Amino acid sequence: MQRQWLVTLQKLPATGRQWDKDIPKTLLEDQACGTVDVLPGLCGDLHWQLTLERNGGVFSLRGQWSGAMKRSCGRCNAQFDWQMSGETDRVYQFGIEPSDEESGSTCEYIMPPGEINLVDVLREDVWLAWKAGVICSETCKGLCQGCGANLNKVACQCKQEESDHPFAALRGLKLDG
Ligand SMILES: [Zn+2]
Ligand SMILES: [Zn+2]
Repeated sequence: MQRQWLVTLQKLPATGRQWDKDIPKTLLEDQACGTVDVLPGLCGDLHWQLTLERNGGVFSLRGQWSGAMKRSCGRCNAQFDWQMSGETDRVYQFGIEPSDEESGSTCEYIMPPGEINLVDVLREDVWLAWKAGVICSETCKGLCQGCGANLNKVACQCKQEESDHPFAALRGLKLDG
């Protein structure tokens, strides 16, 4: 574990801290680092701009991250680099969560000295931004339902064959007429 990604809230300088860094892919994929599930198939490092500030007893961790992940297109199955980005927005406080805390509170309670693993925070944020069924492009034509051809690459012959079929004309007939 690289200490540089661990922050201790109690040691935070009055001016807070700022980061504008690439978080290495190797670290985000390293199971020995942190407790949140590692990120699979990253194309490279993730970029993260982050600030940590203290206001009274409340610590805010805010920023933006971006990067890309290898995904399979939900339409054509081809692998592509899924461009992703998102926000980090967390609030920490020392202590134990009060039992009467309204549900939906976004504050996380942490025991002093308040050690936070930023690699875990980023992994969590990326998992929250993960979407099922992503597509390689808005204009992806997908696979032909008939022959499975990738219509982005080839023009399939299915439709033509269908209209040549001797029974194709029957489809237009009304049987109860
Ligand atoms: Zn596609
Ligand atoms: Zn086809």
